[in-house]
Amino acid sequence: MLRRLLTIMLKEEKLDFKLGIIARPGAALANKTGSFRSEIPVFKLDKCTGCDLCIYYCPEGVVFGDKKTKKYSFDEDYCKGCGICAEECPAKDIDMILVEK
Ligand code: SF4
Ligand code: SF4
Repeated sequence: MLRRLLTIMLKEEKLDFKLGIIARPGAALANKTGSFRSEIPVFKLDKCTGCDLCIYYCPEGVVFGDKKTKKYSFDEDYCKGCGICAEECPAKDIDMILVEK
């Protein structure tokens, strides 16, 4: 019931998400997140297959790259350090490292 109600409200855009729900991917593009994250991804680029999954899975849409050259990176200003790209990379070609503050 709650799920159905939320679906209807999302479709009609009646929610402004003051409930703490992350409603849409890419929300960080409205707020720079680089200052509070504790980890960042490192794209090692040695075993990359160019599958683009890191781009598809990044909830903030901040991974970019080229499957022909197999060179991938991310926008440091907006990455929130969640590690999903590293977790989902089938080639394990992304490491998460601690950011020194
Ligand atoms: S998910 Fe991993 S293997 Fe696939 S494109 Fe991204 S870095 Fe390369
Ligand atoms: S850690 Fe990876 S998946 Fe998470 S926001 Fe940064 S680039 Fe995107």
